Amino acid sequence: MTADEALAWLLERAKAVDATEEVAVEDTLGRVLAEDVAATVSAPPLDNSAMDGYAVRLADLDPEGETALPVSQRIPAGHVGQPLAQGTAARIFTGAPVPPGADTVVMQEHCTEADGRVTVRRAPQAGANVRRAGEDFAAGATVLVAGTRLGPQHQGLAAAAGHARLKVARRLKVAAFFTGDEIVMPGEPLKPGQIYNSNRFALRGLLQGLGCEVVDLGIVPDRFDATVDVLRQAARQADAVITSGGVSVGEEDHVKAAVESIGKLTMWKVAMKPGKPLAFGELDGAFFLGLPGNPVSAFVTFCLFVRPFLLRCQGVRQVAPPSYILPAAFEWKKPGDRREFARARLDIGADGSPVAALYPNQSSGALSSVAWAQGLVELPEGKTIERGQSVKFIPFSELLS
Ligand code: AMP
Ligand code: MG
Repeated sequence: MTADEALAWLLERAKAVDATEEVAVEDTLGRVLAEDVAATVSAPPLDNSAMDGYAVRLADLDPEGETALPVSQRIPAGHVGQPLAQGTAARIFTGAPVPPGADTVVMQEHCTEADGRVTVRRAPQAGANVRRAGEDFAAGATVLVAGTRLGPQHQGLAAAAGHARLKVARRLKVAAFFTGDEIVMPGEPLKPGQIYNSNRFALRGLLQGLGCEVVDLGIVPDRFDATVDVLRQAARQADAVITSGGVSVGEEDHVKAAVESIGKLTMWKVAMKPGKPLAFGELDGAFFLGLPGNPVSAFVTFCLFVRPFLLRCQGVRQVAPPSYILPAAFEWKKPGDRREFARARLDIGADGSPVAALYPNQSSGALSSVAWAQGLVELPEGKTIERGQSVKFIPFSELLS
């Protein structure tokens, strides 16, 4: 199965949680909007000044030369002035409503005020420096759509539109456990043959980045009964269960058989590197996603398959990460028969524009490649790449937030 086919298959099975909750806007970072948000007000609510200066009627200004006008009122932000008397100017400040009758604001740098009169040295364009009522959005307009993952910019917009609380999808609860008799938590001494549980930390961070609530069930030994027990426990409390390791076909790999014994399992060898074994299953009340044990494979597989799947389960519409086409700063002479997602970084090319550079060690065990990288370069199966040729770069900035 190709990576594209595996992803399409997964997304077809994703089911958005239907429970929602109302949350204060300041607590919605990373949450997913459950309904469209309409503006309760127009922004700006009134025509207002974009500058500190003088509000005038343009017809009162000499288009060729200077004009002196009496200053008839002073309007700071937060105060509403009187209609502008003909042949006068209003001293006005940024954000203050433009008084009825005025149509233009002259910036103060183009004026001199003395003895209650302002001399406008240069007449601006009609309507200059006036922000029109509703030019950002009108009352009643939809400013945010359901399925948006809320970032700081959306929180700001929701507040500007008059909302203190928003209806968001319930957080997804994801249980995770990590298989392997050789796996030990950092902080413990390492005996011969053991390695530290790096997947726990990378996967936890990835899940937290997606706004999921993580239930960590720890390290599980390579035994069928132990695996079944923890799977049952995981499925009881979570919407999805994620594991690392134990999904190959060796006799020490028990995850596959354990899932089959209590639910349904679909296994693939996805034609990609790193990665390959990826398992999907349906347990009683929870999805199952089995990642490879190799830390780089687990990380990349999570980014490419689990991330979009879990986002869809939270109701996110747009789950594909944006990518960029960049010139390769490398040669790729020995392409494999599987698509490769190489750890890559942006570099500056000879002409000053960005190019994609590869980490020298692309082994699926080398976690330093992921830490060095800023993203993944997709190398199509069976194709060589010449230096300078275009490649697709998927930045981590999108994948990991
Ligand atoms: P497995 O899929 O269980 O055969 O594991 C493949 C490789 O990944 C082996 O070298 C494991 O030692 C390693 N591995 C499995 N789980 C973890 C983990 N939680 N942290 C770091 N490495 C792991
Ligand atoms: Mg193992």
